Amino acid sequence: MNVEICKELKEAGVTRIQIGLDSSGDSGYEDDYQNKWDTFHSWLRDDGMGFNKTIEAIEIAIKAGMDVSVRYSLCHSNLNDVVKTYQFVSSLGVSKFKFRVLFPDGRAKGRLVHELISGEEMANAQYDLIQSSKGNKTVVEITQPCLYTLPGRSNLSIDSQYFNSFKESCPCGTVAAYIDSNRDVKYCLFDENALGNVCDDSFLDIWNSGLMKEVRKERCPLDRSGSDCSSFKLLYSQFIDYQSFMNACIKGAKEKKLSND
Ligand code: SF4
Repeated sequence: MNVEICKELKEAGVTRIQIGLDSSGDSGYEDDYQNKWDTFHSWLRDDGMGFNKTIEAIEIAIKAGMDVSVRYSLCHSNLNDVVKTYQFVSSLGVSKFKFRVLFPDGRAKGRLVHELISGEEMANAQYDLIQSSKGNKTVVEITQPCLYTLPGRSNLSIDSQYFNSFKESCPCGTVAAYIDSNRDVKYCLFDENALGNVCDDSFLDIWNSGLMKEVRKERCPLDRSGSDCSSFKLLYSQFIDYQSFMNACIKGAKEKKLSND
């Protein structure tokens, strides 16, 4: 990212960008080979300058007048760095903090399974983040699973019209699909399998295809239920007991909610 690229993006009509950041920069990271890294963020990208480059990109984009969202992927190694990272990016002028769980797919699949957190840890981290967003301009968006109860969100409200933390409903299969850098069309951005490729077929043909209809029929009811996520299920069922994970997450969120009522 540089000033020129920002200028070109703006001229092309781009007003908002999302940048991944998984550490606050407050603490270093030691990998399995005892190599020391400035941050977990840099290790995850296998780039010693990864953290600095990302912060520089955020600053350049904000300076160029773009609306910048930061996406944070929660896992064991950065479980205690969430609030610090949120506060740090907020001080830089980031408008939205998107909070997700690390999805160890693709190249990361075998390498990062030990980084998966428990459902209870996820609920606790969401709660701490939501509380820290109180009175802060940087909005917190928590997704995945997209319709779950957010722990402690309700007691943030001063003005009933406004919450600083929100969840989004699952748009997959009904109003949105994901096209990755290979032009593969996917039901959700966390999926590994493609439903078609826009180099071979038009997007509309893929969207209306028999395969898409089948996938929609099977997955949309889960994703709209508020207690499931088909993408999460597909991936996490390979590594851990998905249902126990989800139950612990829901239980943790409810307990936090009750303790604040
Ligand atoms: S499939 Fe799951 S992770 Fe993907 S957008 Fe829907 S609820 Fe969210």
